[in-house]
Amino acid sequence: MTDTSKLIEGRTGSWEIVLGLEIHAQVASNAKLFSGAAVGFGAAPNAQVSLVDAAMPGMLPVINRHCVEQAVRTGLGLKAQINLKSRFDRKNYFYPDLPQGYQISQFKDPIVGEGEVVVERDDGSTFTVGIERLHLEQDAGKSLHDQDPNATYVDLNRAGTALMEIVSRPDMRSSEEAAAYVKKLRTILVYLGSCDGDMEKGNLRADVNVSVRRPGAELGTRCEIKNVNSYRYIQQAIEYEARRQIEIIEDGGKINQETRLFDPGKLETRSMRSKEEAHDYRYFPDPDLLPLVLDPAWVKEIQDSLPELPDAKKARFQSQYGLSAYDAGVLISERAKADFYEAAAKDRDPKLTANWVTNDLAARLSAAGLEFDASPFGPAVIAELTGLIQDNVISSKIAKDVFERMWAGEGGPKEIVEKQGLQQVSDTGALEAIIDQLIADNPGQAAAVKEKPQAIGWFVGQVMKATAGKANPGTINQLLRSKLGG
Ligand code: MN
Repeated sequence: MTDTSKLIEGRTGSWEIVLGLEIHAQVASNAKLFSGAAVGFGAAPNAQVSLVDAAMPGMLPVINRHCVEQAVRTGLGLKAQINLKSRFDRKNYFYPDLPQGYQISQFKDPIVGEGEVVVERDDGSTFTVGIERLHLEQDAGKSLHDQDPNATYVDLNRAGTALMEIVSRPDMRSSEEAAAYVKKLRTILVYLGSCDGDMEKGNLRADVNVSVRRPGAELGTRCEIKNVNSYRYIQQAIEYEARRQIEIIEDGGKINQETRLFDPGKLETRSMRSKEEAHDYRYFPDPDLLPLVLDPAWVKEIQDSLPELPDAKKARFQSQYGLSAYDAGVLISERAKADFYEAAAKDRDPKLTANWVTNDLAARLSAAGLEFDASPFGPAVIAELTGLIQDNVISSKIAKDVFERMWAGEGGPKEIVEKQGLQQVSDTGALEAIIDQLIADNPGQAAAVKEKPQAIGWFVGQVMKATAGKANPGTINQLLRSKLGG
């Protein structure tokens, strides 16, 4: 069934967007896929290039076991088929930053087969994206066009770095769904530790296949937008590209299958080259590499060592802490945030802790550009603050003031409460005196409470005002009721 909320209105009726993504995720590894050269970011140009990466004659590739393990971990994390026998192929093409003249990739027999990813929408509902395959391949080098007006330089540091190409089914129907899928996939990879997910460094980038069709019709011709590396760009590129295709078709034209580039400055896509077919690459098995054969016992070992993954953690947070699907989803979206929450919620009210972690603290961290593992306050400090609320030492309202002071560097929660005298006034005697005075000064209001019990709220407000918000609301209500009979 077509969800009509996702359709785009054209001049001649409604259109449905169909999206499939190919994600290139750099394998978290100290060395390249087929050589021992380092892969660290930011090294001087061509400082991390072995003779294999530079494609010197006679050099032979040797598979990096760690990279294979990361691909298997990822496949297991995507609930995918692990192929115990896979093969490396040469994908032949010419590019100045590809010294071999081919990329070692996997074509017919990838290491990982079909799997799936369950993705949350903003409203908490979910949809499933099929994974077609995951294969290992080499990254290319980088051409530098801005070093000299008359020459292009080549930096081979990236050449030979291990990538996992994760290919989805065309299961997404809106730019929001595509962005949500990439977010979820990234979360899974970071939990697994198989990719650091750093999109700014290009360690996770998306090729987006976009086509449009009448709802329920056959698939239209697609265009592939290459190397989009932020959630916002992914959405903007899709929005532009879908509109472009609809206009062409509505004007009686045809979509050419091609590869396009997204220009974030102009917010448009433009043609890069006509799309190659697989046969254009003359794939053939790499004669320098034996087929990759995995021991089932080793795969089982990797399976047994997987961490708790986002979906399982979300279900556990809901059952163990009684959190809503929404709160649990927000907390598990980053592993560091989930760990922080669990440490802070120990011996504390889980819902109260979730509110502080996902609202106040998350907002402050995000404004400061910090991740949870770099928070200036650890979980114990947040637990100290929520403990003060739970023990009725301070109200939630005062707690926000304490938190601001903590952020300003005035000290820990208890310290600030004591220094500033922010403790709630639960001392019945002191509150009674204030209330007696208020009743004596406002006989009309007091009489009104007998008629209309809700009128007691006015007195609560006055006591709060008199105590600068520090009175315990429970105690005030009790005292007022006994004196006014509300
Ligand atoms: Mn690729």
